[in-house]
Amino acid sequence: MKNIFILTFILSFQITFGQNIEYARGIVETLCSKEFAGRGYVNDGNQKAANFIKAEYKRLGLQHFNGDFYQALGFPVVYYPSKVELSVDDVELAPGTEFMVNAGCPKVSGRFKILYIDSASIDNSSEFTKLESKAGNKFIFFDHLKNTKFTHPERFKLVSNNAIKAKGIITRDLEKFTWSVHPEWADYPVVQIKKGRFSHFMIELKIDIDAQYKFHNTQNIIGYFKGKTQPDSFIVFSAHYDHLGMFGESTIFPGANDNASGVAMMLDLANYFKSHPPKYSVAFIAFTGEEIGLLGSYYYTQNPLFPLNQIAMLLNLDLMGTGDKGLTAVNATQFKDEFLLLQTINADSNYLVSVNARGKAQNSDHYYFTEAGVKSFFFYLMGNYHFYHDVHDSYEALTFSKYDEAFSLIRDFTLQYQK
Ligand SMILES: [Zn+2]
Repeated sequence: MKNIFILTFILSFQITFGQNIEYARGIVETLCSKEFAGRGYVNDGNQKAANFIKAEYKRLGLQHFNGDFYQALGFPVVYYPSKVELSVDDVELAPGTEFMVNAGCPKVSGRFKILYIDSASIDNSSEFTKLESKAGNKFIFFDHLKNTKFTHPERFKLVSNNAIKAKGIITRDLEKFTWSVHPEWADYPVVQIKKGRFSHFMIELKIDIDAQYKFHNTQNIIGYFKGKTQPDSFIVFSAHYDHLGMFGESTIFPGANDNASGVAMMLDLANYFKSHPPKYSVAFIAFTGEEIGLLGSYYYTQNPLFPLNQIAMLLNLDLMGTGDKGLTAVNATQFKDEFLLLQTINADSNYLVSVNARGKAQNSDHYYFTEAGVKSFFFYLMGNYHFYHDVHDSYEALTFSKYDEAFSLIRDFTLQYQK
């Protein structure tokens, strides 16, 4: 079923070959489809995405370094393959949109009373000392105290960090959920409830979260085109293909902008270099394990397939699905000449409304390359798009507003940089 699906997709986009944005849309739509399960740790999503990208590498005629495009690695992960249920006072809430749990949330099930913590129980010393015995086997709730001026703010901090050893914590001060994925268990469950979902005094919570832990075997996917005149110098394009996966059996985090869009642009650039052989060698790395802590790119920098000092420049693409508010280059302040070239090209060709400089940041897969002395930029596009690490970051929602312009800017930069 999966193979037929992929084959049909490949045949259908060859017709539109050469139209960047249509190709990119097709890749994002596929990577965000139900079949790929948010490219995480439920229903084999991460592996299905890898197989799809590998098939694309093959179709594009990329070469591999070690007899295969895959570089195997693994890491532990906490994941949520089955039951994720929550009711408050017998009202059932929908996962992903009405409630979420913290990344790494431990397995928890049962009925628990909710303990509202008031300002007196923080500031009154005899009340405060009773808190630990009162909170046992209850979920505590204290968001209504957020703007309170305490005589003992340090006590409130202790309560917020669950030093009073409650069963769990409820929060509902968030406008939107921002989920994540963790390699280890959190100490206790934190249940986020959609703001405004309950205005009454909550009494009891019924929860059933089936959390699992496994060692996940995965891979980076690496291919290249050999350069015509300077094959020992490499331009590397990278983009992480993993995302958060699923929360239970039906809630998918599709990760369209983060980072199906970056993978799509990377493959689109490979498409370009297939018909325009580069001077330098051009390598493409689809990283795994970014969301869990840059684990794929870290592994690669420790186990490179060709010497890191042969990388003339690494361009990491993450969040490439918008662009109406311009592009940001992380490491712009580290590599000023390269950033000036980027800005000049953008101004001359009028591609994007702005190209912004940002300093060093440990926020995507370029980071460990920079640390290893490799010249690198991390590019992300900005736009009117507010979905991030939530169930709404979907193919249908993604705008692709300045996709072609951003693609052209990065292509031109690569061509001029090789001169
Ligand atoms: Zn990302």
